Amino acid sequence: MKKDFDLVIIGAGPAGMSAAIQASKFDMKTLVLDDQLAVGGQVYRHIMQNSNKKKDLSFLDGDYWSGHNLADKFLCSSIQFLPESRVWQITKNKEVFFTQKGKAHCVQAKSILIATGAMERPMPVKGWTLPGVMTVGGAQILLKTACSGADGAVFAGSGPLFYLTIQQYLRAGFEIKAVIDTRPKKMSLVAYIWAFPSLLQLRLLLKGIRWHSEIRKKLFYFSDVKSVRIIGKDVAESLCFTDAEGREQRISANHIFIHQGVIPNINLTMATELKHRWCRRQLCWKPKIDMFGESSIEGIFVVGDSMGIWGAEAAVFSGKIAIQRIAEKAKRSVAIKTLISCLYRWRQLAIRPFLDYLFKPPEDWLVPEDDTAIICRCESLSKTDISNAIKLGVSGPNQLKSFCRAGMGRCQGRLCGLTIQKMIANHHGQSEEKIGYYRLRPPIRPLTVFELATLSNDDSTAEK
Ligand SMILES: Cc1cc2nc3c(=O)[nH]c(=O)nc-3n(C[C@H](O)[C@H](O)[C@H](O)COP(=O)(O)OP(=O)(O)OC[C@H]3O[C@@H](n4cnc5c(N)ncnc54)[C@H](O)[C@@H]3O)c2cc1C
Repeated sequence: MKKDFDLVIIGAGPAGMSAAIQASKFDMKTLVLDDQLAVGGQVYRHIMQNSNKKKDLSFLDGDYWSGHNLADKFLCSSIQFLPESRVWQITKNKEVFFTQKGKAHCVQAKSILIATGAMERPMPVKGWTLPGVMTVGGAQILLKTACSGADGAVFAGSGPLFYLTIQQYLRAGFEIKAVIDTRPKKMSLVAYIWAFPSLLQLRLLLKGIRWHSEIRKKLFYFSDVKSVRIIGKDVAESLCFTDAEGREQRISANHIFIHQGVIPNINLTMATELKHRWCRRQLCWKPKIDMFGESSIEGIFVVGDSMGIWGAEAAVFSGKIAIQRIAEKAKRSVAIKTLISCLYRWRQLAIRPFLDYLFKPPEDWLVPEDDTAIICRCESLSKTDISNAIKLGVSGPNQLKSFCRAGMGRCQGRLCGLTIQKMIANHHGQSEEKIGYYRLRPPIRPLTVFELATLSNDDSTAEK
């Protein structure tokens, strides 16, 4: 017998937690599902487990520890929280299917909040599949969850998370061999224009400038770098690139961390057939939502970085605003509160356009220059394999699947979708918007047949 909830929230990061706290204030019967072991999401990962290790983890700054208060309020609220719960389908009737500890469950919701956050943008440079190469986000997760890292690493890429993690690495005492920054030296005119509204977030702006100048002062730093390739026979051995003066450079390293920004995690929103639009500024797909976060399916809301990359503080407000809207629809007068939350969120968003234009990924990180570079990791398809299939007259990513299985592996296109879309767009001289993205279907997360079979006798008594 399916359990009913007023609200089901997917994701216990800042957006999901703040929404749940709001929901408990309105006595909504709420279930929160998250695939991690505990609350926190990306930015506040492991915050409760780390709370008594502040001294050892002093390299994590105040922004990280500010998540403790939010997590505490969340865990003290009246909502039901199920960790280690992987959501793999949402139906248009607002049924939510998830797996927890090998058992599948289905619950019924009146309203649903998708707060599944962001993921790192695919970075298909030559050699990115070699052992020893990891994303910067992966390196940060090891720092936050295990206080572990690697000495002598090289960081290659750009973006706010790139500088933040280098800072955390430095403060944690790890030796960094070099920083290879792909951000063009010259700021674009449009970035200059958006620099003005970003002054509303002066604290964040000054912090970014401080990090950047410390990195330049303290580390072997290369700016405005092009054509990054990772070389190695069975493992990463070195990194090659062209420096700002056009000279070929090579740095030997066994640990290489790469990063080109974050994008909304759209697999659940797309598989739920919510309408999406292409964002030219953030070079990604985003769900179409109204100012409260409501999507093209009434009663399904998208909040936090799943709705577009706005950062942790804006994520908190987006969660609040969506719940206030749901309450408003249930005839509770919270219009003033909603307006105030919207004003706060708009102020948080002011810096984003500037960061998007400042850290726009260079073309050669969207589609690798090297034809042997792997594009689809799950199916081990190289740029040449994909180009050959495209030349057979493929019109879009879904047709390409039937030609070479690109995007049909475990990651369901997360790590190749944008690259393949760009390659097809380049081939036809059309926009990425026009070419479109994979048609994603549930289950969006791997599910065993045994797990699926447990659904038949699901009594929804999932473990807390
Ligand atoms: C690797 C990484 C590290 C980051 N580190 C920082 C940082 O240190 N500081 C910072 O300011 N910003 C950081 N960011 C940016 C981050 O996106 C936001 O700051 C913030 O965490 C967004 O909050 P959110 O609530 O929208 O999503 P998140 O915090 O990402 O929370 C979403 C939660 O949903 C869970 N989830 C996703 N899909 C499912 C599913 N199908 N079923 C169940 N659960 C699911 C995720 O595991 C996660 O716990 C990071 C982003 C990434 C990708």
